[in-house]
Amino acid sequence: MRTLTIEQREALGAQIAKRADALRTEVAASLRQPGNSDSIHLANHLAEIDDDAVADLETALDIAALERDLVELRELETAARSLHGPDFGVCEDCQQEIPFRRLVANPAAIRCTPCQAGHERKHGAPRSASM
Ligand SMILES: [Zn+2]
Repeated sequence: MRTLTIEQREALGAQIAKRADALRTEVAASLRQPGNSDSIHLANHLAEIDDDAVADLETALDIAALERDLVELRELETAARSLHGPDFGVCEDCQQEIPFRRLVANPAAIRCTPCQAGHERKHGAPRSASM
């Protein structure tokens, strides 16, 4: 069963494009900040952050924000590519459809709300980290 209509997918696609543009602007702006060469390194080696990167707290906070932006941007790009595919809007864990209103709130969502909550309990939820 597929409840997402073409119109709904296109609405989500427009939202994804808008959010991705905003993120790209934000990322570009923070990469241009003077003395932030670590961020450029980060952009190229997102998966290789080591403990040295958190030595300078201020830099670390910038990098954490930038990292979140880049992760979200990557998720949005993935969502945009699969937007009209059969797997879009289907929960990765339980294979149920993700409600449209959840996709509107987060077009890059790959899990339904209960599965996402379970996933975050198991793996942590970096986006809501209290720092
Ligand atoms: Zn699910």
